[in-house]
Amino acid sequence: MRHDTETSEVDMVVVGAGFAGLYMIHRARQSGLTVQCFEVGEQVGGTWYWNRYPGARVDIECVEYSYSFSKELEQEWDWSERYAGQPEIERYANHVADRFDLRRNIAFNTRVNAAHYDQSSQRWRVTTDSGDNISSRFCIMATGLISAPIEPRFKGLDTFQGEQYLTSRWPSDEPSFEHKRVAVIGTGSSGIQVISEVAKKAGELFVLQRTPAYTIPLQNRPVESGHASKMKRQYEELRQRQFNSFSGFTLVHSDLAPPPSKSALEVSDAERRAEYENRWASGGLSPYYAFTDSLLNIESNRTLADFAREKIRERLDDPAIAEKLCPNYPILTRRLSPETNYLEAFNQPNVELIDLHEQPISHFTTNGIVVGDTEIELDAVIFATGFDVMTGAMDRIDIRGLEGEALKTRWAEGLSSHLGMMTHGFPNLFWINGPHSPFYNPILLAEFQCDYITDLITDMSDDGLDVLEANPTAEREYVQLTNDIGNSTLYPESDNYYMGDNIPGKARATLFWFGGFPFYRKQCRLAREEWSGFQVASGSRRTELAS
Ligand code: NAP
Repeated sequence: MRHDTETSEVDMVVVGAGFAGLYMIHRARQSGLTVQCFEVGEQVGGTWYWNRYPGARVDIECVEYSYSFSKELEQEWDWSERYAGQPEIERYANHVADRFDLRRNIAFNTRVNAAHYDQSSQRWRVTTDSGDNISSRFCIMATGLISAPIEPRFKGLDTFQGEQYLTSRWPSDEPSFEHKRVAVIGTGSSGIQVISEVAKKAGELFVLQRTPAYTIPLQNRPVESGHASKMKRQYEELRQRQFNSFSGFTLVHSDLAPPPSKSALEVSDAERRAEYENRWASGGLSPYYAFTDSLLNIESNRTLADFAREKIRERLDDPAIAEKLCPNYPILTRRLSPETNYLEAFNQPNVELIDLHEQPISHFTTNGIVVGDTEIELDAVIFATGFDVMTGAMDRIDIRGLEGEALKTRWAEGLSSHLGMMTHGFPNLFWINGPHSPFYNPILLAEFQCDYITDLITDMSDDGLDVLEANPTAEREYVQLTNDIGNSTLYPESDNYYMGDNIPGKARATLFWFGGFPFYRKQCRLAREEWSGFQVASGSRRTELAS
């Protein structure tokens, strides 16, 4: 479908209308910029629009996983559950789009194919699959960190006659699995959530597991009205704590809690155990910050991993199945998966765990799937096989900077960014929640980065500047620091998507900033001093103001 955008010349193009894109539109408009957003989906919400599979649910408490920029919004909106399901979060995104009148700047059902920088006009030329050809001073990729699904590629899949579903592209008409023989491939957070729900319905469910995940009960429940009003009164303090915290999720037992101050190794066994029990009773992601060094010290990590395995074993009837569900890598180096009755599903007679290390997937047939030498007949298969994290969404757009250099080619040679928001040679192009951004609450990070970008643009205007790009020296230092920090943690100790390991051929590198949000903010602040982190220019001049 071809459509007219508001104008073919704008100040800013935003790609993606998830939580980051929505807020970017809002901030751009507040700054008096003309803005055009393009979104592939039919509606706003990004990840919460696409991932509508049964069981999809947030695992950071909603009062923390929500916008902080509008005090009115915080007070008006009521979350029904501690951890809302996908439909409620999607409603919230739609409410925000309506309340701040953001839709008029969004073209839906429109995929951005290319963004090319034109050096002579110092503008980005953005083209879409709907025929748009738009010129923009600034180009903002709000394309998401975990949004580019890995397409399932299995021998014979094209011959399989049954139903096929991808958790991250779930149909809006809910499929029925009642009495059917269903397989789920993938046991990360998405697989775990969908398995828990499909196990209630399917005649037989086959869970094809390659790597088990560390799980913890989510401990979801409805929000009591008394608690909701208490949190609303405490919002200011909560936001301050999040802002000053490492990762932006801070609540324990739905209440304000102090940040960790001790190593797991400097307390008694009894004290450590009590703290882990407390975190398991609280649920969600709370074990991340029981102690200061769970992700820094392998001995400390082992105490938590042992505890988590003990908790897994307790919930399973069959010790042999329990062992297959127990991970053996350092905990938290792959995402912890909060769940509701996931492990209990394996106590049901209709659920079978297939360990792909014992019997690898051979191929699909017309009737099902062959694992090892056994054919399993299936009515449906669900792929929860993950994403090309961080770089994938931008790699799928033909982005070209100075001298026609392709961003994808640059990144294939080695991931580079400045402040996890831009890279030299791509003037006036920024991304939000993208490569080298902090491991931090994504909605709050989007707010910070959109504010930062808007402030840079305002400063440029005040200083009569037209073009900004990363200073290559500052960028090298940021990349070095990001890698040094990553290498000082335990993340490199397992195969995980944080290091790019889930994509064959992707260069192994730290894709996230693991130095915590306060230290990240410091880098951002320092870069702004006298433009030291950037190269800036006015008119056609490309003046280097920074060393
Ligand atoms: P994921 O964590 O990357 O999990 C993908 C799963 O698919 C892994 O178990 C992987 O096994 C398996 N897999 C991939 N290719 C396979 C193959 N060819 N054969 C067999 N198994 C294969 O992806 P995800 O579960 O979609 O989660 C991604 C991230 O999204 C999460 O970590 C989280 O950050 C976010 N998320 C959050 C929530 C929430 O808030 N509650 C829910 C869902 C997702 P291997 O590990 O062995 O490769």
